[in-house]
Amino acid sequence: MPTIDFHVHLADYQQPTESLRDGIRRHSGLELEAFVQEWSDPRRYLAYMDEQGVDYSVILAEITPITTGVADNDLVARFCSASPRLVPFATIHPHLTADPARELERLVRERGLRGLKLYPTYNYFYPNDAVLYPVYATAERLGIPVMVHTGSSVFTGSRLKYGDPLYLDDVAVDFPRLSLLITHGGRPFWYDRAAALARLHPNVSIEVGGLPPQRLPDYFGDLERLAPRLIFGSDWPGVPRSVGDNIAAIRALPLTEAAKERILGGNAARLLGLENV
Ligand SMILES: [Zn+2]
Repeated sequence: MPTIDFHVHLADYQQPTESLRDGIRRHSGLELEAFVQEWSDPRRYLAYMDEQGVDYSVILAEITPITTGVADNDLVARFCSASPRLVPFATIHPHLTADPARELERLVRERGLRGLKLYPTYNYFYPNDAVLYPVYATAERLGIPVMVHTGSSVFTGSRLKYGDPLYLDDVAVDFPRLSLLITHGGRPFWYDRAAALARLHPNVSIEVGGLPPQRLPDYFGDLERLAPRLIFGSDWPGVPRSVGDNIAAIRALPLTEAAKERILGGNAARLLGLENV
């Protein structure tokens, strides 16, 4: 079974905010320019994946000019063209895009993007906003997963009220064949809601990027039962330790081997159509 990191950001941002600069400094000890110089080459990131024991990484576009900056869909598509081990995910900013559903279809069909990430707390919309319904319908028809940031963020300007996973209940009900991922599991005070939604809806999973793996049983309860709906992600470069340390912490959880394999790659492989690798 491959090991898949479902939550990786680019190093390179257009229009980086001060808040992003602070975050990079805190996590890497480098100024943004030096960090970008080291990491903007996909071969450097692929070498890091080899070191850390990661087979595939989902690379996320981010059009969030208020909070972090812009790492747009073209930048992600170009970065991921270096290797099939890099899986490009698009983003749509619903307030800055004239026809979000058409744009998603173009990105998938013409640019080869393979999933969608939405940033409600950075772009100020509720995940069940009617403006997004054509986007969800398109993603469902194209068979691509949609991950939605929920819960808190360290970046200035993020508004937590848009991060309540409960709004995804509407989306899960209205688009039963759409695969939805609750990114960060509703951190820090909606973990119970995220777990309830994942247990209730067969099309909803929790992606654990940014959460300390050893705390997952405290947050979500019976992980063995929830394992078919848990997906590993690191949130690199905002990862407190190395990606490999986080993988080791998942492996150290008191779970069956089968559950760990599902969390570390089995569930993600199914969502991404990577089963036969
Ligand atoms: Zn992230």
